[in-house]
Amino acid sequence: MLTDRSRALYEQARKVLPGGVDSPVRAFRAVGGAPLFIQRGAGSHIVDADGNEYVDYVCSWGPLILGHAHPRVVAALKEAVERGTSYGAPTELETMLAGRIVEAMPSIEMLRFVSSGTEATMTAVRLARGFTGRDKIVKFDGCYHGHADGLLVKAGSGVLTLGAPDSPGVPAATAANSLSAPYNDPATVERIFAANPGQIAAVIVEPIAANMGVILPEPGFLDGLRSLTQAHGSLLIFDEVITGFRVARGGAQELYGIRPDLTTLGKIIGGGLPVGAYGGRADVMALMAPLGPVYQAGTLSGNPLAMTAGIATLDELARPGVYDELERRAAYLASGIAGEACAAGIPMVTTRQGSLLTAFFADRPVVDYASARTADTLRYAAFFHAMLERGVYLAPSQFEAAMLSTAHADTDIERTIAAARGAFQKLH
Ligand SMILES: *Cc1c(COP(=O)(O)O)cnc(C)c1O
Repeated sequence: MLTDRSRALYEQARKVLPGGVDSPVRAFRAVGGAPLFIQRGAGSHIVDADGNEYVDYVCSWGPLILGHAHPRVVAALKEAVERGTSYGAPTELETMLAGRIVEAMPSIEMLRFVSSGTEATMTAVRLARGFTGRDKIVKFDGCYHGHADGLLVKAGSGVLTLGAPDSPGVPAATAANSLSAPYNDPATVERIFAANPGQIAAVIVEPIAANMGVILPEPGFLDGLRSLTQAHGSLLIFDEVITGFRVARGGAQELYGIRPDLTTLGKIIGGGLPVGAYGGRADVMALMAPLGPVYQAGTLSGNPLAMTAGIATLDELARPGVYDELERRAAYLASGIAGEACAAGIPMVTTRQGSLLTAFFADRPVVDYASARTADTLRYAAFFHAMLERGVYLAPSQFEAAMLSTAHADTDIERTIAAARGAFQKLH
């Protein structure tokens, strides 16, 4: 596998971009010690700067549920770009995309578009604080909600102690307002509420965790959060930036039949362009400026190109049978890989909801951050490289989800399973 061009581009990039990248997860060392620079994508495939082609299971980390350069999205964008790229004034497109989201997710009565998932979660937390007049929030170990100061926090040693920041630059005073509990552990959340009476503005959770590998909520977890927040006058925020329109049209809240107070979205609703959104109860959203006193603004919020790509994507996803077909193919992929691992005598735990899945190199159930961390990351790294050499592009970390798009054909999946067979043999 030739990677000369990627390596040369990486050397140039490193001089002007820290680590040569604009987001740290991209900085893996592929063959030759540099990340692969991508030149183009079409459907389920990407091609790197040296002309190597891969079946892509990163899908831009979530947005590309239709695959790369979907003809409907490309056509809509071509037409839209001729009319200008941004006006800083309202357009009909924002109402059109909002209407589709409100229809798919009944808990969202009103919403606002921003430019990233980080902005969405950051503002949802500010709004929950403004609505309740409280400062503290509860989050879960291993859940990722973007990189805003108060959300870059995991638990300290004891779940009832105050959180410590994960990154230099996050003020301790900010982190102190973020309490973190183990995922799938409503009893700990109950204890946190008891220890902080009248102080918790919101519980924010990935209703299906997908940023420590995929971890499904156990029965009673999300219901427990719903009733606890209700009983204590706190808001429940579902961060569906990755699960919205991914695990079902109505996201995880549709699957589990739970109505959060606020929901954050991103990724798929922008069809591959930068977007985020937060929304929910109309009485809460009425607090946002200009209706109310909670402030948030954005030069490119509701950008016409992002709205256009989002509308085209959601309309394509509204075609009958789309999610059934994604489910069928993802089940085929997951069982194929699990079968090959089993045949090779390699312990593996596969977690999956629809087209979102992780194959953990683990030998016990993965239910939270602590159990996810028992996975053999060195083995995953070897697997990742072996798959890359066989033309399959997976996320470089064990703690990321693999994603399928509607463009992933049975032939892609067969090729992937065959590659896994070869890779597992090499792992011995
Ligand atoms: C990706 C992601 C975010 C952050 O979105 P960005 O657009 O990268 O800022 C927030 N929450 C979850 C659950 C995500 O997966």
